[in-house]
Amino acid sequence: MTETIDGEAVAADVREAVADEVSRLSDAGVEPGLATVLMSDDPASETYVSMKQRDCEEVGIEGIHVEIDADAPAEELYETIDDLNARDDVHGILVQMPVPDHVDKRTVLRRIDPEKDVDGFHPENVGRLVAGDARFKPCTPHGVQKLFDAYDVETEGADAVVVGRSDIVGKPMANLLIQKSPVGNATTTVCHSRTEDLEAKLAGADIVVAAAGIPEFVDGSMLKPGATVIDVGINRVDADTEKGYELVGDMEYESAKEVAGAITPVPGGVGPMTRAMLLYNTVKAAGIQTGVDVDLD
Ligand code: NAD
Repeated sequence: MTETIDGEAVAADVREAVADEVSRLSDAGVEPGLATVLMSDDPASETYVSMKQRDCEEVGIEGIHVEIDADAPAEELYETIDDLNARDDVHGILVQMPVPDHVDKRTVLRRIDPEKDVDGFHPENVGRLVAGDARFKPCTPHGVQKLFDAYDVETEGADAVVVGRSDIVGKPMANLLIQKSPVGNATTTVCHSRTEDLEAKLAGADIVVAAAGIPEFVDGSMLKPGATVIDVGINRVDADTEKGYELVGDMEYESAKEVAGAITPVPGGVGPMTRAMLLYNTVKAAGIQTGVDVDLD
């Protein structure tokens, strides 16, 4: 019987733990604050940012939102980051990606104070993650790790295949899977656009984390029976719905679910975890910056 990994339920538990820590911080005179910065006219980016603000409100984190005209000079964004770095009421800073072409993304990531870098993309935080001394784990792979933990997925000694090598999902996911940790210790293969014979790699995988962003490109026939399947992909495909599209993952869910031991749905799997882990990192950041103990595992 295939188990459905319920990301909504695990994310609700994370939010509850975060809300408890927000109250404890508040008792100690600290009101955790997350600043979101949007420099884009893209409706999807606008939606993501407003969802993050709503999530903050739900757990008692102070949301600060800054919008910058998409045509404004890049300096305006860099200076905004400097201002937010200097504010005591801002503990986390998230610049919604992608930024316009005339903005240097690397400058943006490096400009954010590493202690406020709740995405975990600053080179200092990437280095700490790789060294096994993470300050902030990037939200999506961290969320996947929480799912492994919540569902007692045995990662230790397992053969894991990560499909995708992006800086935000694939690479940090692989790094977490190989860490010497009870939710790591997996023998990990990273596959990408130049991988030859992906089928052979998947066929031996006890754990598959799919993050290629290609709608339904892995089906059940490619999986090892009983595998744990984590579908990170969120792809819009045309559909006869009110909105004219539907969201699908990188897995062909119906056939994958017949073969997998456990699988995340899309939506309702990894997505809610990513959102919850941003709140987690913000509270952790508030603790780091104020010296107040935060009890989040
Ligand atoms: P990306 O485009 O930056 O990276 C995609 C990766 O897939 C690349 O590393 C590429 O090498 C690899 N790839 C492309 N074609 C491949 C192929 N045929 N075989 C194997 N690998 C191939 O994307 P991303 O930002 O890592 O996001 C990946 C997907 O995850 C997208 O659908 C995105 O929307 C989704 N996503 C979901 C969440 C969430 O919270 N659920 C968070 C982030 C991203």
